[in-house]
Amino acid sequence: QAFDFTGKVAIVTGGGGGIGRAASITLSENGAKVVVVDLSEEAGMLTVNEINERGGEAKFVRADVTKEDDIKNYVKKTIDCYGKIDIFLNNAGWEGKIMPLIDYPAEFFDQLMSINVRGVFLGLKHVLPHMIEQKSGAVVNTASGAGLLATPNMVAYGASKHAVLGMTKTAGVEVAPHGVRVNAVCPGVVNTAMMRSIESGFGQGDSAAAEAARKQLEATTPDGRYAEPQEVANLMMYLVSDLSSHITGQELVIDGG
Ligand code: NAD
Repeated sequence: QAFDFTGKVAIVTGGGGGIGRAASITLSENGAKVVVVDLSEEAGMLTVNEINERGGEAKFVRADVTKEDDIKNYVKKTIDCYGKIDIFLNNAGWEGKIMPLIDYPAEFFDQLMSINVRGVFLGLKHVLPHMIEQKSGAVVNTASGAGLLATPNMVAYGASKHAVLGMTKTAGVEVAPHGVRVNAVCPGVVNTAMMRSIESGFGQGDSAAAEAARKQLEATTPDGRYAEPQEVANLMMYLVSDLSSHITGQELVIDGG
């Protein structure tokens, strides 16, 4: 047990996905009660069951983060059940389509912005009041290296992650006087279902081309490999722990160089 989250209450959106599951389990192993939020009940329940089987405490709340009522609902269920929110991993996201900007359909642009930007905004809007009231709390928004660099063929994704960093800075400054911290992580390439989908998009459905895309992505990483979800989760743990008590409004890059 590297951190002490005993008695803390955490919400993890996208908690059924690769990074969200690793983070949810690690929060639990370090003592937190975890509310796992995801669009997919099946994926979210896998996380919850794994936590409960290991003797931890977790609950699932289904939500589509593009819907404000769903966000209000996961916040209300957490407060009704546990009375507070100490840790919020605002992590749900979608990679969108892999195609050049000039071909990118506007409806997919809107859909991606709705998940990756509006969803993150609404999470902050409805969780932060509880943290401000209790004068403590820590949030990590999952941005991406795509929030810092060009992302050819992923225009909406890159734009959305730049926006997440913008909101992180604003939120961090606004709530700092209340003892609440908001930071972002910027992972490079991480070994999750999302990367399988991105590889397949770059390979245009051809599995050999997808494998070649993976090799190329790995080669662009100085340490030559994808991150494992646990490595991203470990950074998130640091940012929601008291070890980072004077860090807020920041983006921390985790990309193997
Ligand atoms: P993932 O696909 O395994 O998990 C994403 C989760 O988000 C899924 O469980 C999915 O059901 C959920 N989700 C999608 N749309 C939703 C919605 N509208 N409402 C609620 N939940 C929804 O991918 P991951 O790699 O674990 O991604 C987690 C976060 O990390 C995302 O924000 C992603 O953009 C970011 N990220 C991933 C990588 C990578 O290489 N995998 C790199 C940088 C950043």
